[in-house]
Amino acid sequence: MRIGLFGGTFDPIHFGHLRAALEVREGFGLDQVFLIPAAIPPHKTREGVAPAADRLHMIELAVAGEPGLTASDVEIRREGPSYTIDTVRHYFQETADTAEIFLIMGLDAFLEIDTWKSFRELLSLVSVIVISRPDGDGPPADRGGEALAGFLRARVSRDVAGSGSPAVFRGTGIRGVSLFAVTALDISSSRIRGLVRAGRSIRFLAPAAVWDCIQIKGLYS
Ligand code: ATP
Ligand code: MG
Repeated sequence: MRIGLFGGTFDPIHFGHLRAALEVREGFGLDQVFLIPAAIPPHKTREGVAPAADRLHMIELAVAGEPGLTASDVEIRREGPSYTIDTVRHYFQETADTAEIFLIMGLDAFLEIDTWKSFRELLSLVSVIVISRPDGDGPPADRGGEALAGFLRARVSRDVAGSGSPAVFRGTGIRGVSLFAVTALDISSSRIRGLVRAGRSIRFLAPAAVWDCIQIKGLYS
């Protein structure tokens, strides 16, 4: 069983997340990708994150009818801040250590992984699929591989080398980090929240059911 874990705040989930999850699932032949909203995102100090139950519910609405993409409440059921290492241990346990686990994240998130709890253990336990993301703040997509390798050499192991196409980077203590190009959709949850606050439509940026839920619950306004 090959499973992908795609964590985030998902406040709210949008087509950038969904399309990336689907393309990674197909590209890496994963049986299942779990979309996992963080209970209390450890790296977000922003006030007023929508309730975890609402963020989870919007994911459930978004993936309904899409086999292979599943909303997971594993982090919101756990007490306290959400740490990916705990989630990974949960899935290893759940599958009696038989699963091959792939962590999915954007390059922006990956370049902060050295601030995550037990990040070295994490990198030795699971493969990471870093997805490209059009982001004015980050390195340009075609330089992503360099940014990624440079980061791994500086923070984890000097012997990191990439091979194959798409490149997989490996080194001491690194099971494998690949960079995977997904359809560039310049959509972010912050932009969606801004649009809602401004009384504007978010149609075609996120599933209609998510927009309905935001309106019914009065989120972000
Ligand atoms: P915010 O603007 O609030 O930070 P976000 O859109 O970045 O929200 P997150 O919940 O922070 O969404 O992101 C969860 C994961 O999804 C991260 O790994 C992030 O890099 C990735 N991601 C978010 N948006 C996209 C996108 N448009 N394309 C590819 N990856 C994305
Ligand atoms: Mg983000």
